[in-house]
Amino acid sequence: MDKGLLVVISGPSGAGKGTICKKLLNDMDDIKVSISATTRKPRIGEVEGESYYFLEKEQFLEKIENEEFLEYAQVYGNYYGTLKKEVLKEIENGKNIILEIDIQGALEVKKNYPSGVFIFILPPSINELKSRIEGRGTDSKDTILKRMDCVYDELGYAFQYDYVVLNDDINSAVEKVYNIINAEKLRSIRNQALINKIKEV
Ligand code: ADP
Ligand code: 5GP
Repeated sequence: MDKGLLVVISGPSGAGKGTICKKLLNDMDDIKVSISATTRKPRIGEVEGESYYFLEKEQFLEKIENEEFLEYAQVYGNYYGTLKKEVLKEIENGKNIILEIDIQGALEVKKNYPSGVFIFILPPSINELKSRIEGRGTDSKDTILKRMDCVYDELGYAFQYDYVVLNDDINSAVEKVYNIINAEKLRSIRNQALINKIKEV
């Protein structure tokens, strides 16, 4: 069996990454979103072990010390990290995994895992982005300002990704990501086991 696909999705806060990933999970039964660890406090409705593993800073630092992270970064004032246990074995076993992580983390993964598929989600405009974050109703004014302050810098990194997907209409954005993943699965380099199996018969 060939390895699973590692799909990395980034973009400014409020661009719609979480919404897209949730819809993808409903549509694709061979894909799993990696649950990250964070020191951010849970938002209303977020569930431990489903949205994130919510940790105290000391617990997070201990995991860094124990080399439990594939990557980690400080984002908007909190620690976030991808646990190796969420990803490495799964990929080896042929599972397709999505990481919804920030740009620093994505670039770190790209260094160590260049065969990953890197997708950047774009908002239709900065104004629309702001109203989406405000409309989400989960962040304080201060947090929203902190996140909006980063948008221009973040957009500059889009060129380091393989694909950009404009999240204007949500269904068409999900379809685009779905199509990218399906096309990437068909790359010859990812299908050596299939080719060899046919040669054997
Ligand atoms: P992110 O995970 O990138 O921070 P979210 O997925 O939480 O963003 O989306 C931010 C807000 O924007 C949510 O309230 C979500 O329902 C809304 N949203 C997402 N995509 C769209 C879209 N295409 N059109 C309008 N609203 C959207
Ligand atoms: P939020 O607080 O809105 O859930 O996430 C804030 C930012 O942290 C988003 O850009 C999100 O993609 C990023 N993030 C979430 N999990 C991880 C992770 O495991 N690693 C890194 N580097 N960033 C993450």
